[in-house]
Amino acid sequence: MAQTEYFSINVIPIIERAWKKIYPAIYYDARERGVSLPKVIPVRSIIEDGKSVISKYNSRTETIEVSTSHLRSFIVDLLRKEGVNAYFYAVDALAMVLAHEVYHHFQNKEGLHEELKRLLPTEKFVERYVEAELEADYYAIDLAKSSRINVDYDEIKYYWENLKEWK
Ligand SMILES: [Zn+2]
Repeated sequence: MAQTEYFSINVIPIIERAWKKIYPAIYYDARERGVSLPKVIPVRSIIEDGKSVISKYNSRTETIEVSTSHLRSFIVDLLRKEGVNAYFYAVDALAMVLAHEVYHHFQNKEGLHEELKRLLPTEKFVERYVEAELEADYYAIDLAKSSRINVDYDEIKYYWENLKEWK
């Protein structure tokens, strides 16, 4: 039964709903910056440093990859804990993940990739890399706080962190 339940979860509509949720805000921001928006590509899994991650921005193809297996197992666990509310939390947490990756796209369009390459292999590279990650997180947090995502911001932030760390 649990197995059947697991495989019957279709995460594609959840990805689409999360994207729709942030779309008006990111569309506006992209226009302000004079850049295009990235495309979202569902992939089976994304492994970074030997562990599963929910998403990844590819600066070469300008796409955001979302791991369907990672998202699916996160939702299975969330359903057990939150019941029907799991889908709402999953959409909002994923919306924040997508907002984080969209910001990486903005950074890329503003030359971060080249900047990082120039800094290699100095300590400044790590500093700038960490800073860029924080900037992307702040962007996602701002988006959530401006109530486009959820009224209960702290709760969503909790699920967002969980979704990123989920193994
Ligand atoms: Zn990032």
